[in-house]
Amino acid sequence: MKPLDEALQKLDAGFTHLPDFDPITPGAERIAEILGEVAVRLHNNYPYFHPLYAGQMLKPPHPIARDAYALAMRINPNNHALDGGRASTAMEIEAVAEIAAMFGWKAHLGHLTGGGTMANLEALWVAGQLKPGKIAASSQSHYTHERISGVLKLPFQKIGVDTRGRMDMRALEEEASRGELSCVVATLGATGVGAVDPLPEILLLSERYGFRVHVDAAYGGYYTLADNLGAPSRTAFDQIRQADSVVVDPHKHGLQPYGCGCVLFRDPKTSALYRHDSPFTYFSSRELHLGEISMECSRPGASAVALWATQRLLPLKPGGELAHGLSASRRAALQFAATLRADTRFVVPFDPELDIVVWAPRAKSASAASAQSQRIFDEAARLNLHLAMTHLPVSFFDDAWPELEKDRESIQCLRSVLMKPEHEHWLGEILQRVSAAANTPPR
Ligand SMILES: *Cc1c(COP(=O)(O)O)cnc(C)c1O
Repeated sequence: MKPLDEALQKLDAGFTHLPDFDPITPGAERIAEILGEVAVRLHNNYPYFHPLYAGQMLKPPHPIARDAYALAMRINPNNHALDGGRASTAMEIEAVAEIAAMFGWKAHLGHLTGGGTMANLEALWVAGQLKPGKIAASSQSHYTHERISGVLKLPFQKIGVDTRGRMDMRALEEEASRGELSCVVATLGATGVGAVDPLPEILLLSERYGFRVHVDAAYGGYYTLADNLGAPSRTAFDQIRQADSVVVDPHKHGLQPYGCGCVLFRDPKTSALYRHDSPFTYFSSRELHLGEISMECSRPGASAVALWATQRLLPLKPGGELAHGLSASRRAALQFAATLRADTRFVVPFDPELDIVVWAPRAKSASAASAQSQRIFDEAARLNLHLAMTHLPVSFFDDAWPELEKDRESIQCLRSVLMKPEHEHWLGEILQRVSAAANTPPR
């Protein structure tokens, strides 16, 4: 018997004291037929599960997450309130505490969200409540921070970056010295190039100028478990514990289905700073009522169940299997970048901090290189290798490519997120296809 069927039987066994009833399921006789139709419709996707999909941040959830989610679907608990999901609320509290412990927090406030955007919205909402003022984030930060600030009616200030995409500390200090900042968003693992902002310096500035620090580690957070980060990144990840809040997406590197983000606040008494009629006063109540502390009302208990089961199988520990997978992805990215850099057809602006590699085809000008990126992207797809593309400021190539003719401000580059543990062993196959795609004459 399959593990899921076995578990379903066990689940049903807990409810045998109830009188039998015939569930009313309209259309039950056509389910198989329509599922077949769905399967065919789903062919219209890139093969996200395959190692030759080396494009965006996409991979399937771990089988235990899928099964635990499906198991919870028999009940469909709602983690808005204890009434809607008693067991799954307890599992959410435990799973979230494990994520907090991964960052070094013994106490915290936090919960799961629909994703990183909702989690960041909540963190910046709290920041704006506690310290009204401007939100600042780097020009490589996730595009939603500006939108979120708009929703919260907080002014937003973009801070420039260095040639590796990290927040420029001189620009931040200049902004901070005006004394208007509420909160600085430090991105640890920027979505585009994987840049890691210099959190230690940001924390020092926050002591001097009194702004809050929120870490957006939606993509990169789990990398704190890896054993092969570069020294500046290691230090940054080790200091997440000193930030006021942090966001991490279990649906990115935590092997979960979409719909699973997480927001954490360092101070469990954040609530004490609130007006007493604020919903946040529930944050630290003993009978934690997660719905009272979340912006979202209904939330999937199944997400918490899937996360709990995954972390039970793969604990969030350095040296554990999840950590090994992350280290393997970074090794793959470093080797991919080194091989591309040794090839005169390509330019790699900088080494990857995490598992995201960006590179450009060498050409006369930024516009010629951009056109070639598109061509290689298309040719690679014909060879079943799926890459991504991203626009980078030409200044990112100042060091690696001084002779580049900067006839436009940005350059369309190729980008690969090597986030699957299989990518390391598939590098040869991937590189061979990149090379073949680059050699294909224009059609
Ligand atoms: C993905 C991402 C987000 C947005 O998270 P969603 O889960 O897609 O809503 C925010 N910040 C960073 C750094 C991300 O990588």
